[in-house]
Amino acid sequence: MNKVILFNPRAAHHNVRIPNSILQLGAAIEGKFEYEFVDGNRENDPWQRIESLLQTGEFRYFGCTAMPAMQLKQAIPFSQKIRTQFPEIVIIWGGYFASNQHKSVLNSGFVDYVVDGPGDIAFPKLLTALAENQPLDAIENLIFKRDGNIIRNAREALLDQDSLPPLPYEKLNRAYSIDGYLGRTYLGRKTLAYHSSMGCPFSCSFCAVVPIYNARWRGKSAKNIYSDVKFLKENYGADAIEFHDNNFFVSEKRTVEFANLIAPENMVWWGEARIDTLNKYSDDSLRRMRDSGCKMIFFGAETGNDAVLQQMNKGGTQSGEQIKAFAARMAQFDIIPEYSFVLGMPADSPEKVMRQIDEDIEFIKEIKRINPATEIIIYVYSPVPTEGSELYELAKENGFKFTEKLTDWLNPEWENFDLRKNPLTPWLTPEMVDKIRNFETVLNAYHPTVSDIKLSAFQRKTMRLISALRYKTNLFRWPYELRFLQSRWLRYRQPEIEGF
Ligand code: SF4
Repeated sequence: MNKVILFNPRAAHHNVRIPNSILQLGAAIEGKFEYEFVDGNRENDPWQRIESLLQTGEFRYFGCTAMPAMQLKQAIPFSQKIRTQFPEIVIIWGGYFASNQHKSVLNSGFVDYVVDGPGDIAFPKLLTALAENQPLDAIENLIFKRDGNIIRNAREALLDQDSLPPLPYEKLNRAYSIDGYLGRTYLGRKTLAYHSSMGCPFSCSFCAVVPIYNARWRGKSAKNIYSDVKFLKENYGADAIEFHDNNFFVSEKRTVEFANLIAPENMVWWGEARIDTLNKYSDDSLRRMRDSGCKMIFFGAETGNDAVLQQMNKGGTQSGEQIKAFAARMAQFDIIPEYSFVLGMPADSPEKVMRQIDEDIEFIKEIKRINPATEIIIYVYSPVPTEGSELYELAKENGFKFTEKLTDWLNPEWENFDLRKNPLTPWLTPEMVDKIRNFETVLNAYHPTVSDIKLSAFQRKTMRLISALRYKTNLFRWPYELRFLQSRWLRYRQPEIEGF
């Protein structure tokens, strides 16, 4: 039998999002292969569900999406178990982790194929080729092993996103109620996660999107996005949207068209953008976006240092001055800028690394002075394997090396690396990592995120009062009292780990 399991490993403890990746693969094989969704976020014991499906003898393929960190906790052991208990099952991985770490994935001995980027064409073609015993060399976006060698096939041009088949929401709803995916967030009571485009036209050298999409981007038309959103609103009551695109706002025309269409629907929405791209938008466009419900936008600010921005190959025209001016501009339109910063980049000497961390901390505080509503997300730099980029070369020169063993990613240090919490980068001393983490603790106490809807006004005020001296005088060391209150009293959420 040729049935397929499409497995989405657990990615969140609460506020579970629609599993768009397996939904899209389902659409790709609809009518060609029979398949079942298994969502690790919605099963108490997903292994039991997978095992019972495999025991029917009707399945031949296990397709698993593998994003870094949390999803690996199920993707790795479940694939291992399948290989041991059901050796006839073909195991196929997709997702950022699988693409960027394909060598360790394929050398593990328990993953047979990696779909490298969008699987709309590659996945059904692979299943057909395996079913009919055809060669695999012409299947674009596929990585596999032959005679001990890793073969990476050509990359497919990005498809016209409007030509893709409709997502099988009703089938998903039969397996797991869609209602259970529309969670309460800062944006609304029933928040929908939606993907409206593929890739990104830029090549930032710290970004995991780049090795897969190589500066390519293609988006659905505003009309088609609107019609999907409307369907989910009318049938399942969605009242807010998180656009999980890497870069939703590439086209001003598409954004404004979408804003015009969604405005009468009274829905709040959020997406990810670049500062230099949005800064080119006209005032009219920004006003239109806000009027249509765009309440907050995530931006990669990265650093205030122009030389480091260059080293990151941030592309475009982003600069420290622009980051500051743009925070002020967003305030005029009542759109909250959510700025992420990447601290702890490699440099020529430890003094220079530490100086850069201090400067970034000062820069973040300045942004907060310019527009106190700005949300700040702090990451510690974790290299991504963008071969040939100046930054990755510098990271390697400074002694960084990825593990070659897939199961190592289950170890806490590599898991924290994936979460960009513990970088495993030799140039960062414990003192530097502590400084970043301690500053983050004090910042989060003094400026708690608005996206944490469970924090009361009293809690916010108390934390601000307790942390004021530390924040104002840069006294970040040993903030144990704040950490204790954040973990026990506030159960503070971190958007960079738990989703936005
Ligand atoms: S703009 Fe954002 S998504 Fe695009 S390459 Fe840079 S960091 Fe990645």
